[in-house]
Amino acid sequence: MAAVGNQEEAMLVSDILRGKGRDVVTASPEKSLGQIVALLSERRIGALVVLGASGNVEGIISERDIVKAIARDGAKALERPASESMTRRVVSCRETDTVQSLMERMTEGRFRHVPVLDGDVLAGIVSIGDVVKHRLMDYETETQAMREYITHA
Ligand code: AMP
Repeated sequence: MAAVGNQEEAMLVSDILRGKGRDVVTASPEKSLGQIVALLSERRIGALVVLGASGNVEGIISERDIVKAIARDGAKALERPASESMTRRVVSCRETDTVQSLMERMTEGRFRHVPVLDGDVLAGIVSIGDVVKHRLMDYETETQAMREYITHA
């Protein structure tokens, strides 16, 4: 974000990825829900992207989908494949999208994770936590710039 006095630049998805990296935890659609649960827990994340054999995004599965499956089928849901519980219509974004537009998509769609695509290739993922963290850093920079501006005015 630009300093006080300059025109404010829009924050982009690429700014977030620069800070957090491009690592995305993925799984194949055949993986069982039990395996997905283990991965989510091990990697301390709330969702993962489901990739087909050719690396195409087939879906996204989050802890919320797993809760829903267990509420419906009980513990035996953990033996079923991820493909049965994942969301197939994935809302994605590009690195050049603004964080503002990303927040709007998350709010409208009521989800907390958005994969970043470069063409058809997975290039990262942004969670609501990443957005909040980045916004906070941004506010701090802005507050600091304001303080310096006032002190040196
Ligand atoms: P979340 O808030 O990310 O845990 O996800 C809530 C619900 O939205 C779950 O059913 C997810 O499968 C789904 N979901 C999460 N992220 C996306 C996304 N980017 N596009 C479409 N659906 C999503």
